[in-house]
Amino acid sequence: MFHRVALVTGASRGIGREIALTLCRSNFDIVVASPEIENNEAVAETIRQCGGDAMTLNLDVSSEESVKSGVAAALKQMGRIDVLVNNAGITRDGLAMRMKAADWNLVLQINLTGAFLVSQAVIPAMIKERWGRIVNIASVVGEMGNAGQANYVASKSGLIGLTKCLAKELASRNITVNAIAPGFIETDMTGVLPQEVKDQMMATIPLKRFGKPSDIANAVKFLASEDANYITGSVLRVNGGMYM
Ligand code: NAP
Repeated sequence: MFHRVALVTGASRGIGREIALTLCRSNFDIVVASPEIENNEAVAETIRQCGGDAMTLNLDVSSEESVKSGVAAALKQMGRIDVLVNNAGITRDGLAMRMKAADWNLVLQINLTGAFLVSQAVIPAMIKERWGRIVNIASVVGEMGNAGQANYVASKSGLIGLTKCLAKELASRNITVNAIAPGFIETDMTGVLPQEVKDQMMATIPLKRFGKPSDIANAVKFLASEDANYITGSVLRVNGGMYM
C-alpha cells in the first residue's frame, strides 16, 4: 500500500507526538523530528508498533545546518516528504517592558525562523512530486494578542503571515499551506501555568473544557488529507470557541 511521508517537528512530546501517532494511523510514514534522541526513539517505536514506518531525526529547527542536513537525511532514507507539520515551539513569557532580547530572539528563532527554514528545505522535494501539504501550528494568541507573551505572539502572528505567503507562492505547484491556531491544550507547555491562570482561561472557553492534543492532531489529519485539497492559506481555529 502506498504511504505518504510526514515530517513532524517537535514530535517527541505533547501535540507533536499526538500528530505523529494520528497521521501514522492514517497510513502515513513518519519522520519524528526533535532535538532529543531518546524521546524521538520512544515515539518512533510506538509508530512501528502500530504498523507504520518511522525514522528519527535529531533536528534543531533553529539551526540552519541542522535543518539542511536533517531534511537531506530524511529524504535519503524515506525517499519523499509529502507533508510537513511545523509544530516545534517554545515559550519564554514575561512583560515586554522587561523582556530580555535573548528571550525575544530565541522564541522568534525557534517558532518562526525554524518553520521558515524547515519549509524552505522541504519545498523542493514537494515541487518535484507536484503534491505537498504544509501545516503550521500557530496559536489563538497569534490572532488575539496576550499580555506577557510579546515574543510568542509575534512569532505566531508571523507564522500566520508566513503561511499566507507560502500558500500564494506554492499554489501553482499543488502544495497547500495552512495554519492551525490551537486554544488552550493540555500539554507540558500549559501544565506549568498557575491554577489561577488556568481558571481565568477556562472562563473564556464556551465549550468549557481545555483542548486535548488529539483535537489538534485530528485537524492536522484533515488538512493533510485529499479531502482538504481546496483549502490553502487558511487559519483553522481549534479553540473551543475561545476566539471567534
Ligand atoms: P511542548 O509539550 O512543550 O512540546 C514542544 C515540542 O517542541 C517538543 O517536542 C520539543 O522537543 C520541541 N522543540 C523545542 N525546541 C525545538 C527545536 N529547537 N527544534 C525542534 N524541536 C523543538 O509543546 P506543545 O504544547 O505540544 O506545543 C506544540 C506546538 O503547539 C507549539 O508550537 C506551541 O506553540 C503550539 N501551541 C500549543 C498550545 C498549548 O496550549 N499547548 C496552544 C497553542 C499553540 P524536546 O522534547 O526535545 O524539548
